[in-house]
Amino acid sequence: MRKGIGVSPGVAVGQAYCVDEVFVHPEHTHLAEDEVLPEWRRFEQAIEQTVGELRALQKKMRSQVGPDRGGVFQTHESILRDPAFISRVRDQIVGRSRPAPAALDAVLKEYAALTEKTKDAFLRQRLADAHDAVIRLSGHLSPLLTTGDVARHGPMVVVAQELLPWHIVALGSLEIAGIVTQTGGETSHAAILARRRGIPAVTGVRGIRKQVTNGDMLIVDGRNGTIIVHPDSEQEAAYRKLQREFVDLRGRLAENRDRPTRTADGIDLELMANINGVEDAQAATAMGAAGVGLYRTEYLFLAHPSVPSEEEQCENYRQVIAASPNKRVTIRTLDLGGDKTIPFLGHDREANPFMGWRSIRLSFEHPEFFLEQIRAVLRAAGSSEGAGADVKLLFPMITTLEEIRKIRAMVRKGANQLKAEKKAYRTVPLGLMLEVPAAAFTIDSLLREVDFVSIGSNDLVQYLMAADRDNPKVSHLCRPLSPPVLRVLARVIEACRRARKPISLCGEMAGEPRAFTALVGLGLRSFSMSPALVPTMKDLAARVQYAEAKEIVRAALELKTTDRVQRYLTERVRRLAPDLKLFEVADA
Ligand code: PEP
Ligand code: MG
Repeated sequence: MRKGIGVSPGVAVGQAYCVDEVFVHPEHTHLAEDEVLPEWRRFEQAIEQTVGELRALQKKMRSQVGPDRGGVFQTHESILRDPAFISRVRDQIVGRSRPAPAALDAVLKEYAALTEKTKDAFLRQRLADAHDAVIRLSGHLSPLLTTGDVARHGPMVVVAQELLPWHIVALGSLEIAGIVTQTGGETSHAAILARRRGIPAVTGVRGIRKQVTNGDMLIVDGRNGTIIVHPDSEQEAAYRKLQREFVDLRGRLAENRDRPTRTADGIDLELMANINGVEDAQAATAMGAAGVGLYRTEYLFLAHPSVPSEEEQCENYRQVIAASPNKRVTIRTLDLGGDKTIPFLGHDREANPFMGWRSIRLSFEHPEFFLEQIRAVLRAAGSSEGAGADVKLLFPMITTLEEIRKIRAMVRKGANQLKAEKKAYRTVPLGLMLEVPAAAFTIDSLLREVDFVSIGSNDLVQYLMAADRDNPKVSHLCRPLSPPVLRVLARVIEACRRARKPISLCGEMAGEPRAFTALVGLGLRSFSMSPALVPTMKDLAARVQYAEAKEIVRAALELKTTDRVQRYLTERVRRLAPDLKLFEVADA
């Protein structure tokens, strides 16, 4: 039995499916003699495809950002063309009859060992570039998990060191039983993916990737972070029963999808969905969300082989608008950097990526991309799908008033260009994501220049507590139900109420029963969460009286430690909704 952090409720029983950076198909690790040459050809072809992709990226960077940019892609190309690299891989494929992905995996391990040994900054950067180039190449060789795998083994438990954004794109909508990762906390991408799809998940299980191999039987208890490797038959039977109960309860809750969301004393609430693409928008509709409160557009970029053009983006936004509940969508501009890197902007490695060149900061430095995205949204809002739709634009990681002013100028510029080009467009409300403490403390002045606010509590909590949201070692600090977080939230919600500006919260805490209850008590009326959680929160809302929630949060605000806040809220919410205990996740 192993322990980690339960981050997505429910239990799962299934075979392990280990995901490494390069996916090596477990049933195919040694080539027969007549397979070697075709495999080598496949590798050569993949090199050509990757180089083609790199050149396209470079061209795009040069024309849109500047002639001196895109050098990183040239470096990647030279690495892939390097005879020493080719001969290393050849030795693996031709010399040792290993499939290309296994060969690349071996080469990556060599690079990792070298990186560990060297202190030379130049060599380390070169090795980091080589690593990125190989990962890009491996994407052309083997898909992560296929529908065939799922058909053969049933839904499996994905086990990874870390689930990266591109893994999430690659896993698409395949049926997954559970997720276990070594790193990551409650708001890591693995956790967000899991909750988005209602998949039980545990993060922060040290050494699990080495302990488990493909096909091992696993039990994942996302409520308390327990993992059982090779369960005995009694354990397996007990957990399968729990799994059925969980699925049944979720099914029953989903039946209330057409009911309005209202507290027990008749106050209307709005439950919106967080999505990563068109399929999620459909899921949001199926789950009874009132609209989309957060479309994380970076997934459109992460899933694209190069960079989506303005036309492609506009088409995607039109589809998302059409598929979203009540045609209501808040589109967030690119929020890359931090833990979500993609190479197209030539991202250098930074010592403190979460405090560095990420999100809106990165957009400002690449105004051409930024403007393209803004134009694409305005055009989608002005299209036939946008007619009668409620489309909003949301900007992540706002820190200062100057940033808002710069954004407004950009949006004006985009609209003026479209007007001059006689392209259909519509202006839309502009909002800021409240994720940085500096913005929380100056919210009054920021509110004068935006139309609405969405609290990104995942980032707000990490910045407020100075505790990395992905680092399990500090997850005891990165907790939303803590005195400082509650106080900041109370302040911001009150400031918006006074200024009569709409406010919503789209971090993971919106879908956590205790946090949800506390937020209702603080006066919040709009929430955005994983589509899978909407039915549960709708059910909970119907059992909460606003007056009682207010009293609960008032008492919670008096408590001095996180543990006491958590225990108090657990006890109060359990009394309100005892049967939702199955959806509880134990505190870190
Ligand atoms: C947040 O920070 O709370 C948020 C919703 O954005 P993301 O998780 O994409 O950073
Ligand atoms: Mg964020």
